[in-house]
Amino acid sequence: MAEDTISAVTTALGEGAVGIVRISGPKALAVGETLFKAASGKALGAYPVNTLAYGHVYDTDGSLVDEVLAVYMRAPRSYTAEDVVEIQCHGGVQPLQKILQLTFAAGARPAEAGEFTKRAFLNGRIDLTQAEAVMDIIRSRSEASLKLAARQQQGQLAGELRSLRKQLVDIVVNLEAVIDYPEEDIEDVTYGRVQESLSTVCSGIEHLLAHAHTGKILREGLRTAIVGRPNVGKSSLLNALLREERAIVSQYAGTTRDVIEEQLLLDGVPLVLADTAGIRATDDFVEKIGVEKSRQLLADSELVICVIDGSDGLTDEDEAILEAAAGKPCVVIVNKSDLPQQVDLAQLRERFGADKVMTLSAKTLVGIEAFTAWLKSYVYGSKGTLGDGAYIQNARQERLLREALAGLQDAEFAAQDYLPYDCIVIDVRSAIDLLGEITGDTVQDEIINEIFERFCIGK
Ligand code: GDP
Ligand code: ZN
Repeated sequence: MAEDTISAVTTALGEGAVGIVRISGPKALAVGETLFKAASGKALGAYPVNTLAYGHVYDTDGSLVDEVLAVYMRAPRSYTAEDVVEIQCHGGVQPLQKILQLTFAAGARPAEAGEFTKRAFLNGRIDLTQAEAVMDIIRSRSEASLKLAARQQQGQLAGELRSLRKQLVDIVVNLEAVIDYPEEDIEDVTYGRVQESLSTVCSGIEHLLAHAHTGKILREGLRTAIVGRPNVGKSSLLNALLREERAIVSQYAGTTRDVIEEQLLLDGVPLVLADTAGIRATDDFVEKIGVEKSRQLLADSELVICVIDGSDGLTDEDEAILEAAAGKPCVVIVNKSDLPQQVDLAQLRERFGADKVMTLSAKTLVGIEAFTAWLKSYVYGSKGTLGDGAYIQNARQERLLREALAGLQDAEFAAQDYLPYDCIVIDVRSAIDLLGEITGDTVQDEIINEIFERFCIGK
């Protein structure tokens, strides 16, 4: 949540019946109450939320600026999900600018372009309690490279989505013009052009979806389970990982499952380790949490780290655990490489793939670095670092994007088959809504504005 309070004129500058100054942030109500005086004599905060209050805005010298309506929207039920006060005044440049200046004088700062939306976007994305918890941890470590990376990605994703949506709005604007105003002198809209634009947007969405994995991990952490029979070195491995300089850790009780989870930022790789408290507290992990629960744990995991003791042969218990993990993305850690080895490495490599079997010593730390590097490339791809692209960050965004893509592919077919423009517009509009849902932007007004801006129809 942003700490500063911002304000701006949210309506188009120029002549209009009504103009709106929006104030958003923790001091929104205080700023609003400084300049707005309700005719009833009550403070704005004394009105029920989302209720219009009639009154006046006064200058610092007490002189009347304008007759206005004001509304207070309490966080998180507002456009930005922050405290918001909106003042509706007469839509001229003078009152709007004057009121805006007064909000600055009262402690708000000018909003940057798109900043309300950016805040809505940033605030709106914290929809999963666990993602929220992970984010809090990441935020609290200012040195964590992930924080910067994630923040950067946020802006990039919003930008990418806006650009895709803008292309869709253009398609609708062009088609609507043809449908509603056939007599207007506008450029020809051909099916071919629409199809081409649609296919460009589809590729953009497909690209985002292709990298959904990385984005989701960045945001929510990679759900990881460390499993293995007692004494193979699970706790030692964890401690070895934690000894890595750049590892940060915090614990919280899982909200969706009654297990303890631990977040670990390992050289930029955010892991959510399931039940490591259990692992640490007892050397009988599997026994303690029960077979059922460990199966559940495995099922919920996106990566399973199977630890076996290389100085010991594989036991039936090892086999059972390896078998349970085999259906999941997993990596087999052959621990205690400092001791004479008993385990048949070649056989394990054949079973799990050579790149999925690693030997290391949690005691001497030989091989720990290679394992960390493996984790990094598992999350970020072969480059081992974040690329420049935008990443989607959670399942909600992914779902909306997939829905949008399906609709746009339908629209593409419709264009291919020369179906009526309306059929295409419906699908494109719903895709715009879906993308808008991700960023929290309003959509219909945007299309209307675009139509008038570009064609000056009805003027
Ligand atoms: P867990 O039950 O799987 O958590 O196993 P622990 O981490 O508690 O380790 C069990 C025992 O193995 C302890 O005595 C550790 O000191 C020892 N151990 C763990 N890793 C290594 C290793 O890499 N080399 C050697 N020599 N001993 C290890
Ligand atoms: Zn242990």
